[in-house]
Amino acid sequence: MKKTAKMAALMLALAMMTTTLAACGNSADSKGSTATDTTVSNSQDNGTAETSTQEAENTLTFGTNAEFPPFEFVAGSGVIDQYDGIDIAIAKQIAERNGMTPAIENMEFDSLLVALQNGQIDAAIAGMTVIEERKEEADFSIPYYTATQVMIVKEDSEIASAADMADKKICVIQGYTGEICVKDMGYPYESFKKGTDAIMELVNGKCDVVVLDSATSQKYIEENEGLKIVEDAEAFESEEYAIAVKKGNTELLDKINTVIDAMLTDGTVAELGAKYTEQLSAD
Ligand code: GLN
Repeated sequence: MKKTAKMAALMLALAMMTTTLAACGNSADSKGSTATDTTVSNSQDNGTAETSTQEAENTLTFGTNAEFPPFEFVAGSGVIDQYDGIDIAIAKQIAERNGMTPAIENMEFDSLLVALQNGQIDAAIAGMTVIEERKEEADFSIPYYTATQVMIVKEDSEIASAADMADKKICVIQGYTGEICVKDMGYPYESFKKGTDAIMELVNGKCDVVVLDSATSQKYIEENEGLKIVEDAEAFESEEYAIAVKKGNTELLDKINTVIDAMLTDGTVAELGAKYTEQLSAD
């Protein structure tokens, strides 16, 4: 397979995991909307009820927001049900290497930490950047991926640095670290629920720049003609993605960390990164 170059790049990115937390300050708004209780379906006779309880106990439910390729997206047939991507493949291995069955609950990004708190999900895996404000609401695993915010603009755009966004129309995605960065810079912006909606706004000339995570941005510029990525390493610090669990759930956190550590060491995470970026570029 022709993965070598991309794998090397990804491994380099992983090797560069020196800085911790991130992005641009810690003023994340975690609004959290409605969340429903977990309900384990009850069966009529005791024997079956016992079986379904055992199944529920042996299921590891990950919350995600499947709008963030190459980490999570909906596919015809995915790694777990219809869900596919780097994070979904990692989630599957975490469950299976612990003898559990993986399950995915797809929800809004802003709802993930609330869903953890009320037990609707066991863990959140969503390309989620570790930031101070989120650490107050959840415990995070060791990081498995390093990213940064970038600016997506039209190919003929004059924007060459974050400062150039000052008098431009900026689009971000609600609750993402990109929104936090732009807010911290003090620029006005419009926020969208989905990355694809913000990109359409840019493509249609209704906004000048979208601030979004690097790997996802790369995917969008491959899919949409006439766009390019502008980086500004001074304005946007590196960010680390990690898996969140309910505060104090050290038992699950230890299990997750053991698998992530093994997958980083044996190259599985790097391979998944290469596989999913290549797969998406080929589409
Ligand atoms: N990394 C960004 C954040 O944590 C975006 C994550 C996502 O949309 N899945 O806010």
